[in-house]
Amino acid sequence: MLTLSTASPEETVELGEKLGELLANGDIICLQGDLGAGKTYLAKGILKGIGVNEEVTSPTYTLVNEYQGELPAYHIDLYRISDYRELYDIGFEEYLYGDGITIIEWPDKSGSLMPDNYLNITIKGEENSRKIKIIPQANKYIGLVTELKENVDFSS
Ligand code: ADP
Ligand code: MG
Repeated sequence: MLTLSTASPEETVELGEKLGELLANGDIICLQGDLGAGKTYLAKGILKGIGVNEEVTSPTYTLVNEYQGELPAYHIDLYRISDYRELYDIGFEEYLYGDGITIIEWPDKSGSLMPDNYLNITIKGEENSRKIKIIPQANKYIGLVTELKENVDFSS
């Protein structure tokens, strides 16, 4: 596990960018945290790190925003989902297990469709900073977390 602390929204984006640069096809990132914690800011950085140049907006209303960086990337926000079965309509599993990288805000709302293997990131808001915990939920993410640790300096 890696625990970091970012002191501004810009630092959160920067951390995301460093993480995005390390991602590979098929990777799934779950972002947990309250409203306003900084999940979308981190996602913006991740997408930038994957090479997405267009503006990234929150998928709260669209549920899914699709991007093309060096790899396809899907930014999903399940906040407004009331029943996980709605996920069949948006092709949730096709995003997760198809080509590309998937970032999910409010992953707990995916019920029995919650993936088994993912990189888990929890963000906790403090007044002017964010505590960010990065936990590999599968062995395949352990190397990535080790590498990230060497590349960032947001120690808490
Ligand atoms: P979420 O997607 O988790 O609901 P957002 O990323 O949309 O949250 O918003 C995070 C909010 O917190 C933004 O308004 C941002 O300016 C603010 N903020 C303040 N400090 C930080 C920080 N260190 N990292 C990220 N966001 C921060
Ligand atoms: Mg958000």
